[in-house]
Amino acid sequence: MKRIQAKAGALIIGGGTPIAVQTMCNTHTQDVEKSVAQCLQMAEAGAKLIRLTTQGFKEVEALAKIKAILRNQGIKTPLVADVHFNSEVAIAAAQVADKVRINPGNFSQVHKDAQSQFARFIEECRKYGTAVRIGLNHGSLGEDIVNRWGNTPEGMKQAAMQWLDMCVKEDFLNVVVSLKASNTIVMSQAYLLLFKAMEESGTVFPVHLGVTEAGNADQGRIKSAIGIGALLDKGIGDTIRVSLTENPVNEIPAGQEIASFFESGLEGKLKALIQQQNSRTPELPFKAFECGKEDWNRFIIRTSSLFGVMLLEKEIDDFTIAEAPYSEKKMQALKENIQQGARRVFYHPEYIACPGCGRTQYNLEETFNKVKEKTSHLKGVRIAVMGCIVNGPGEMADADYGYVGQGGGLVTIYKGKNPVLRSVPDSEAIDKLLKIIEEDQSKS
Ligand code: SF4
Repeated sequence: MKRIQAKAGALIIGGGTPIAVQTMCNTHTQDVEKSVAQCLQMAEAGAKLIRLTTQGFKEVEALAKIKAILRNQGIKTPLVADVHFNSEVAIAAAQVADKVRINPGNFSQVHKDAQSQFARFIEECRKYGTAVRIGLNHGSLGEDIVNRWGNTPEGMKQAAMQWLDMCVKEDFLNVVVSLKASNTIVMSQAYLLLFKAMEESGTVFPVHLGVTEAGNADQGRIKSAIGIGALLDKGIGDTIRVSLTENPVNEIPAGQEIASFFESGLEGKLKALIQQQNSRTPELPFKAFECGKEDWNRFIIRTSSLFGVMLLEKEIDDFTIAEAPYSEKKMQALKENIQQGARRVFYHPEYIACPGCGRTQYNLEETFNKVKEKTSHLKGVRIAVMGCIVNGPGEMADADYGYVGQGGGLVTIYKGKNPVLRSVPDSEAIDKLLKIIEEDQSKS
């Protein structure tokens, strides 16, 4: 079996190299000054790869300028162009970026056309030494895949394998693959199926892990730690991104905490303590997590990467952390968030919020927090808050309701996959969304 290493700039991904923690700018890529400033902060925080939205040729030009400015300042962090929909833009970006992420679901739906677009793209990547990420998302699979396998982990695996097979056939192996979903079970199952299929095919490509639209604050970190941790626990995952609806610089320490929990051996040590207890409701003392009281974010990532993963895997049913130096209320909220992130018990609405990027059409972080405030009393609903109408509706996958930025201060409200109110001024949109949900709940 061949284990592939990909190379983006000077960064080697996969084949036993340390887990590379990455993030993505939420600036408009054409705003070169702001994008450079954000890249500098990300590099300073330790990002190993930085992705930028590259939706058109103007963004490719801007990316070239951003790269030149960063390199002049001695910043060597590889830059990744995030391209959707347009294979010609992907081809142009291959000449500039160190790595190009494509969403194959957005290539031509006619397989033969998609194959020839992809072959041209790969030739350009080969010529310029550019790495590729085949980045599939639950919710934006191609039509043929959905018709055959549904919007399922199996469908995600099948789609990824089609494109990886094309890479093998073209003898282009500078490739990383991802299969993200916002549902931690769908996400981990899809990656497990993919990894097994790659092993059986004899060529294992490096894997990029992430939970999409994980949200923000504790919930976003917990959900990401559970989904990513479930795979790292099995030795799967070479580069990771924690997607947060926050300043993207915050994604770096969160990712570093997850990576170091598994790489340092602490996870193995804690698991051994739990195994000795032979209990479905294990208990560990706070001090076992090797955190200070001030290390809340580290603590929640470690507990989620341990107990959250075990809950997801159904190895345990509950857990206790003794002698924690936090209030009972705070610890109860942590427990609820971990149980819900592992999809074992649902206490709150499930929020699906994109992290925002250069396509975002409004102040996503502020709006998301307002939506959470106004809807936190609702139970059993999945509410999506998405930054743009281009990718948002597809990527909110199985949400029951969606708040999707349309541009120009307007919002489209979705019920499932259907837009039910279009062009709502953003000042009224949250109340309208709430009214729709409450009306539906009063009927049921
Ligand atoms: S949904 Fe739109 S704004 Fe949000 S991350 Fe995806 S592309 Fe960017």
